[in-house]
Amino acid sequence: MSSTTYALTGNVAVITMQNPPVNGLSLDLRQGIVAGLAQAVADANVAAIILIGSDRAFSGGADIREFGSPKAYAQPNLPTVTEIVENCAKPVIAAIGGACMGGGLELALSTHFRVALPTAQIALPEVKLGLLPGAGGTQRMPRIVGVEAALNLIVKGDPVPAAMFKPTPLFDELIEGDLLAGALAFAAKVIAEKRPLRRIRDMKVDYPNHEAYLMFASNMVKGIAGPFPAPLKCLEAVGASITSKTFDEGIKIEQKLFGELMMTSESRALRHLFQAERATSKIPDVPEDTPTRKIAKVGVIGAGLMGGGISMNFLNAGIPVTILEMKQEALDKGMGTIRKNYESTMKKGKLTQEKFDQRMGLLSGTVNYDDFKDCDLIIEAVFEDIGVKEQVFKKLDEIAKPGAILASNTSTLDLNKIASFTKRPQDVVGLHFFSPANVMKLLEVVRGEKTAKDVMATVMQIGKKIKKIAVVSGVCDGFIGNRMVEHYGRVAGFLVDEGASPAQVDKALEKFGMAMGPFRMGDMAGNDIGWAIRKRRAIESPHIPYSKLADRLCEAGRFGQKTGKGWYLYQPGNRNALPDPEVDKMIDDYRKELGITPRKVSDAEIVERCIYALINEGARIVEEGIAARASDIDMVYLYGYGFPAHRGGPMLYADECGLYNVARKMEEFAARTGDAFWTPAPLITKLIASGKSLT
Ligand code: NAD
Repeated sequence: MSSTTYALTGNVAVITMQNPPVNGLSLDLRQGIVAGLAQAVADANVAAIILIGSDRAFSGGADIREFGSPKAYAQPNLPTVTEIVENCAKPVIAAIGGACMGGGLELALSTHFRVALPTAQIALPEVKLGLLPGAGGTQRMPRIVGVEAALNLIVKGDPVPAAMFKPTPLFDELIEGDLLAGALAFAAKVIAEKRPLRRIRDMKVDYPNHEAYLMFASNMVKGIAGPFPAPLKCLEAVGASITSKTFDEGIKIEQKLFGELMMTSESRALRHLFQAERATSKIPDVPEDTPTRKIAKVGVIGAGLMGGGISMNFLNAGIPVTILEMKQEALDKGMGTIRKNYESTMKKGKLTQEKFDQRMGLLSGTVNYDDFKDCDLIIEAVFEDIGVKEQVFKKLDEIAKPGAILASNTSTLDLNKIASFTKRPQDVVGLHFFSPANVMKLLEVVRGEKTAKDVMATVMQIGKKIKKIAVVSGVCDGFIGNRMVEHYGRVAGFLVDEGASPAQVDKALEKFGMAMGPFRMGDMAGNDIGWAIRKRRAIESPHIPYSKLADRLCEAGRFGQKTGKGWYLYQPGNRNALPDPEVDKMIDDYRKELGITPRKVSDAEIVERCIYALINEGARIVEEGIAARASDIDMVYLYGYGFPAHRGGPMLYADECGLYNVARKMEEFAARTGDAFWTPAPLITKLIASGKSLT
């Protein structure tokens, strides 16, 4: 099927773009537009041409299905199409509704006239992929809406409604009601009035005193750019619309800068993450049309830290929640915390009274399992103890209605075992939320051996509904994220044994871009959690070596922020991590006991050892099939562990460093530390041998 249709309404040709879902500018669609224009020009009866999309989108820009394929660049490419449109001898009118973004907007900017629904969403979001608009957007937009408005749109990349542009010539008319009818009426005027073709390229950007403005803008943009080069290049390109002698000279500068950005690791990282996010929702053996179960009511067991946050996700999405606790007192406390959380959001002006009432109205509490009889999804967030989980799941098996999905929020326990406590293991799944559960975007969906495909399809769908990034993990100790972070923390511990300070390790990794170093993270999450895990591991996998320093801290009651001291000291009501001489002494004593003479550890070594630990364990997770693809791991680290977006996640970072170099370093660490963990994962060795990459 062609991606465009061509029709005549009187003396107006209507080219309709039809490439669902958002009229991505695929090769087929680009060819269709060019062919439609040629047909209209050749037909002596045609006096004007309308280019229109669907209700959902005029065009959302490049077709992401063509990313990385030769089709994306094949002629007619977008710059060529815009040139053909702009040079068309008959008036071309873009009729814009829904999304008009990126290349879609650049296409619209090349037409002679534009009409739009006031609600149409206008954006040049290329900066979010570390790029700039590369089909004339940086040159045409300032000409038509002015330099400042164009710069705002291009540097931020956020969508704005067409109505915002009412006072500019961007849209000749904003149409209330039917878009095509409005566009046809507008075309009739253009024809009747014999309006001259208006090419944006022929307009001049008039900006007196532009040097001062560009200097001011440069300081502003530097302030928001962070580690990304794209925002400043966007400014440079927009600046060229003022300073270039001709439009074509400006276009050349735009293309040069676009090419430079394409080659940056930051843009590669952002493009990787963009695609990774779309890939996560796909489960290889669960087709997209798998029927899903209806989730109209949710039950949550445990109104503690996690249960409360989990409940809020569903309330926010308009789904009723019943929370169950063992005792009324605990229930009241948990429900009170949810109320307080919403109240504080309301005080900040981020929630209306109406929304507050609506959400609280959807929440009920109980101490009686009978109230779960009509729940479609029940999530337990009780103590992390297999005995307690057993009790809960046996009870759920008795009372839940047939087909209800039974989920566990366990962080480390064996989901298959949990499922075996019921007679319906096919209905059991892990939903591993991250703390604070109402804030953190990541949701690990743990697929048990027997979890049914429609259960997987349903929870992935519900994950989207509650605005999470849902990533599927197989069953293993710690699932994807915590299994990797375990080794990251272990290595950080050894670095301190050898001579680094916790603050140096934290700072080095924060400079690399991690939102928080491992010791500050431990203090925030509670060092006792890791302590409990290490105690269990000491029995289950005694061969894995650990520094004993973290245990010493816990033995001294230094659990972190919640006890006012951990690796750092905390003042009441303040999360700032302060140095503590007591910890320095504990470290000193420990080194003496082990007979270690502390050495100077470089920041580079800290970053390499900690990040390569993530990489090695991540590669094992991919090889074992615990993660379906390497990019899923990058999603987990971006959304759950504060990995810097400009590095694209540990797996892409490994590829950027070069797997060969990474493996060589790992072998060096293995020889130096004697830790068998450092043997490069077999997958890494295989990929090096075949010249391939993880991502
Ligand atoms: P928590 O101690 O804050 O809350 C547990 C709640 O469960 C308590 O309110 C307790 O009264 C209630 N409870 C215990 N047994 C119960 C039972 N039989 N029936 C009903 N209620 C019962 O613990 P939490 O931090 O919310 O952790 C809960 C679960 O979430 C654990 O499995 C934990 O591993 C997991 N988890 C925790 C985090 C985290 O950062 N805290 C992150 C991800 C997952």
